[in-house]
Amino acid sequence: MVQPQMVHTGTLPRRRRWSAFLAGCAGLLALLLLWSGAETIGEHVESDALEAAQQRADAIAEVASQFAQRALAAARDAQALAGHWASHRAPEEAAIRAEVATLLADHIAQSGGAIARVAIADAAGTVIWSSAAREGSVADKPWFRAHTASAGPARVNPTIGTAPADAALPGWTIPVSARIEAPGGGFGGVVVVALDIGGLEQALAGLAHRPGEVAAILRQEGDLLVRSAGTARLVGQALVTERARAALLNGETTPFRSHSPLTGEEVMISLRTVPGGTMLALGSAPLGPDLAYAKRVHAWARVAALVAWGALVLLLLAGFAVLRGRNDRRELAAQQAGRAEIERLLAGLPAIVFLREVGPDGTARHLYRNGDSAAVSGWPEEALPRRQPWADLADPEADFEGIYQRALVEGQAVMDWRMRQPDGGWAWMRSTLRLLERLPDGRGLVVGYIVNITAERAAEARALAASRLASLGEMGAGLAHELRQPLTAISLAAGVAVMAAKRGDNDRVLQRLDRILDQVKRGSAIIDYLRRFARGREDSEGLVPVNLADAVNGALTLCGGALAEAGAEVLVTLGPPAPVVLGHAVPIEQVLLNLLFNARDAVAALPPGAPRQIAITTAVEDGIARLTVADTGGGIPPAVLSRVFEPFVTTKGPDRGAGLGLSICHGLMRSMGGGIVAENAGAGARFTLSLAIAPDGAADGAADGAADGVTEDAATPGAPG
Ligand code: ADP
Repeated sequence: MVQPQMVHTGTLPRRRRWSAFLAGCAGLLALLLLWSGAETIGEHVESDALEAAQQRADAIAEVASQFAQRALAAARDAQALAGHWASHRAPEEAAIRAEVATLLADHIAQSGGAIARVAIADAAGTVIWSSAAREGSVADKPWFRAHTASAGPARVNPTIGTAPADAALPGWTIPVSARIEAPGGGFGGVVVVALDIGGLEQALAGLAHRPGEVAAILRQEGDLLVRSAGTARLVGQALVTERARAALLNGETTPFRSHSPLTGEEVMISLRTVPGGTMLALGSAPLGPDLAYAKRVHAWARVAALVAWGALVLLLLAGFAVLRGRNDRRELAAQQAGRAEIERLLAGLPAIVFLREVGPDGTARHLYRNGDSAAVSGWPEEALPRRQPWADLADPEADFEGIYQRALVEGQAVMDWRMRQPDGGWAWMRSTLRLLERLPDGRGLVVGYIVNITAERAAEARALAASRLASLGEMGAGLAHELRQPLTAISLAAGVAVMAAKRGDNDRVLQRLDRILDQVKRGSAIIDYLRRFARGREDSEGLVPVNLADAVNGALTLCGGALAEAGAEVLVTLGPPAPVVLGHAVPIEQVLLNLLFNARDAVAALPPGAPRQIAITTAVEDGIARLTVADTGGGIPPAVLSRVFEPFVTTKGPDRGAGLGLSICHGLMRSMGGGIVAENAGAGARFTLSLAIAPDGAADGAADGAADGVTEDAATPGAPG
């Protein structure tokens, strides 16, 4: 069985396209949302890292600043004590001086290594007292010269102190100096406290204890005094840019991102001025690890967003697939239900519908069959072969291959054929085929149906019989005339024979008896024609050779009298030799009778004196014999000319014509594979019958000129309709 193709209405794909579009939009939106979420998380983590570094740098700077202040405070305390010592320089005050010196030594010890030493120099710069017991002059020190130049309070002078050549870093100091007033006023000397860089470095290292963190104290100019690590390498180096320093002097103390001038690593730096000193405190926290971590989190958030999105898309696709599958199943179920309904309707149809694949040689392959085959064929379903055409039940004359070939070539074909019935009788079937599709390999899909036309055929036969009887009725008067002639001749001959017998003239008696016999034969022939005509023909008879001369004679025998009564002159030219065609004698005679009666009606209606002629001629061309019946009766009214072969077309009024004659003629000619054409030519109507010449039927005669008119089914040799 051939599956019908799925029919799409167009709405479904449109709906699907819309859903796909919406799903695409939703997917994009979801991607956007997830991505922006990942970005927010990344930025958040990054700003957290920056903030934490900022806070850390701030805290370190703050603590470093406090530490520097404490160191300065310790230095000032030491300066105060040293000042005290310097003010008791008289020899009797040696005890006080020794006490102050002890206090100073204690103070230095308690500074936790921040104070390296304390020294007092006189106005000439000569060291007059030192906690480190070092003698010498400080007159060339820049801070000393600064004090001699201007009167002023103690000042931090963060210049790096010079160390002995062999000293390591601990020998480096930051001198914090203060001016001593002379007893009589004026410059009396300098007290200097040397802050120990090594000790400061250790203390600062305690402030910046996480890896990468730096605490430092710088000169106001930006160069390094001490740092939580590596001071030895870096001391004196400018570690703060001019820009940062300027910003700081403007009061802007916000931490800023920068790159470490030492490692190139990204760092957060916080700077502040140490109150009461000319120093800066610096805190630096590394950004690298935290930022790298933030970047990793950012990247992972993006990956997570993509993964979540992918999962979402997969979920959506799966959902779509499930929905689509459900829809498809529903659609399929609906289609199956529809198909089942169609099959059910077809099964109840009083026709057999089928689909076959037909080869160029007419062989057909069964593809599909449905319909009420029992009702059509007269056989129970189980008695019928499922797939094959019912060739074994068909009349052997039925040419199935021929009809399939015709359908393949011409696109359609119809064939009436007989099928054997369970009771041994025959039923008539009509197969109608149409080419559905031509396949590339030369074969074709042919769809068709078979209907039972037995009843139709019977009705046709009854109509034919009725028409024949009607013709007989019309012949009545003519036949009487026709029979009267031989009877009169017989009667005359019998009278003459009696008289001759009485005279003993045997020869004359025999002569008259012969004539009587001739006339009896003629009468019998008329009666034979009548009987044969009234009986009709058997359907089962195949086409047989029919001599057209016999057919014309037969018809004229039956209607010659009627034509003579109407005053019609009949001219017959049939050859020689008269063509022999393939057909049936009685139907041909019936057609001729109809045409002759119509011609008689036409000429009978002519005004007196008009020529009343009926000419019967034949011609043979290309294996087809054409027989024309032309009259001088004025022709077929134009209004009916195009429809004369349709049933119930008449111009004669209800009591005279039923309008069936020509339609029956048409049917009879078709049933013999021939045709009939009506036209107006000359002074009247002209009907041309065409039939195939029987093998060896007749030599080709003169070609008959074709005239304009209605053409109905040109004859096709040997092909039953
Ligand atoms: P009916 O003779 O019963 O009318 P037909 O089918 O034989 O039915 O003819 C149909 C019509 O064709 C006629 O009524 C007539 O008008 C027209 N016709 C047929 N033959 C002729 C003819 N030889 N001359 C003129 N008209 C004709």
